[in-house]
Amino acid sequence: MAHQYSCGSCEFQVRSENEDELIDIVRTHADDMHDMNVSRGDVRDGMQTV
Ligand SMILES: [Zn+2]
Repeated sequence: MAHQYSCGSCEFQVRSENEDELIDIVRTHADDMHDMNVSRGDVRDGMQTV
């Protein structure tokens, strides 16, 4: 079982079995690409389990 997250603002998509790692990747992406500060809870709410 893995977690997956699709960025709402671009085509970026990430999948990982490690939830903490995925959250870090998404937060770095949002900050670098969209200048957005996303909380860990926001990422957790938006991720899917695949
Ligand atoms: Zn994006």
